[in-house]
Amino acid sequence: MPGGPAAPPRTLVGVLVENDAPLAPLTTLRLGGPARRLVTAHTDDEVIAAVREADTAGEPLLVLGGGSNLVIGDAGFPGTVLRIATTGFALDGTVLELAAGEVWSEAVTRTVREHGLAGVEFLAGIPGSAGATPVQNVGAYGQEVAQSITEVVAYDRTAGAVVTLTNAECAFSYRHSRFKAEPDRYVVLRVRFALADHDGLSTPVKYAEVARHFGVEQGERVPLERAYDAVLGLRSGKGMVLDPADHDTWSAGSFFTNPVLTAAQYESFRTRPGTENAPAYPASEGCTKTSAAWLIDRAGFGKGYGDGPATLSTKHTLALTNRGSATAEDLLALAREIRDGVREAFGVELVNEPVMIGVKL
Ligand SMILES: Cc1cc2nc3c(=O)[nH]c(=O)nc-3n(C[C@H](O)[C@H](O)[C@H](O)COP(=O)(O)OP(=O)(O)OC[C@H]3O[C@@H](n4cnc5c(N)ncnc54)[C@H](O)[C@@H]3O)c2cc1C
Repeated sequence: MPGGPAAPPRTLVGVLVENDAPLAPLTTLRLGGPARRLVTAHTDDEVIAAVREADTAGEPLLVLGGGSNLVIGDAGFPGTVLRIATTGFALDGTVLELAAGEVWSEAVTRTVREHGLAGVEFLAGIPGSAGATPVQNVGAYGQEVAQSITEVVAYDRTAGAVVTLTNAECAFSYRHSRFKAEPDRYVVLRVRFALADHDGLSTPVKYAEVARHFGVEQGERVPLERAYDAVLGLRSGKGMVLDPADHDTWSAGSFFTNPVLTAAQYESFRTRPGTENAPAYPASEGCTKTSAAWLIDRAGFGKGYGDGPATLSTKHTLALTNRGSATAEDLLALAREIRDGVREAFGVELVNEPVMIGVKL
């Protein structure tokens, strides 16, 4: 009916289908345009059917979890957005299997509080779904999911079949994996983790800030629940735990990854004035990792930088935030200004961590 009201959402065998559906409310940045079609799937079979349908029709497909690592362009998505809403928390001894749609932070809370198991306690409070954790090898405070994931069950769109990938086959590295390298190939259905029972103690503390907090040496264990509480406290202080009332958390977390410099790049970086005390950590193959937050701050972009609808978080220089009315273009303008400023000051190219949909930095 031309000019009439939009068609109401349809439900097909439990799958909710909406046309012209706003995506901004489904992301933690709360910006970006609508999806031509939004499909919400509650079982693995529904997920697979929706993916097959889109692939058969040659329709662009975007898989959506918690929307906490996405920048969706203002034009929206011209295809099917598949929202994964599957549930399942199955623990067998110390082996945990999570359905992709499980809320990650809630699953971590259960492993610690209900089951006293270690392995993901330092990843408390990270927003998003369990199924997205292998995508960018989610990590924080010296822990990353690559250390505990044993297998990922996924629908392989190239093979048209469900496959099980071992940890090695996931090709995990710093904020990267096979799933990120081949973004249009795998839809994660289930993730299996090997957790550990250390009699109420945590995994050895790796991160200096956490070790200082407890007054222990790096490598020592601390009480599991206290590790979990400490991480949540540290994250909240940086605006890294979602709070709808706090615009500092209307972000995609860290907007830039920590740069990993080759030996030659690091040498050139160190010739720049003011870099004597720059953080430096050994990375693989003779490379050095430095801190994106440090670079941003020293290039003149302090906490709260910006006077438009998108600014840096007042609690953390690495989070770009929506103060309430920002568009994707507002956010990207700020991101480009920061990237260019850091390049000019230090000769280092910052790379975005969130996935960009229909836009580029
Ligand atoms: C306040 C805040 C703090 C954060 N802190 C951290 C942190 O400490 N460490 C960290 O690593 N990240 C952090 N993040 C980033 C984010 O939470 C993680 O990357 C998270 O894993 C994203 O999950 P999601 O379900 O929201 O993914 P989405 O944003 O929905 O999607 C992200 C990408 O994964 C793909 N994807 C999602 N689900 C699937 C699936 N089932 N199968 C295949 N592909 C899929 C999407 O297509 C997209 O490409 C933070 C974000 C915020 C907002």
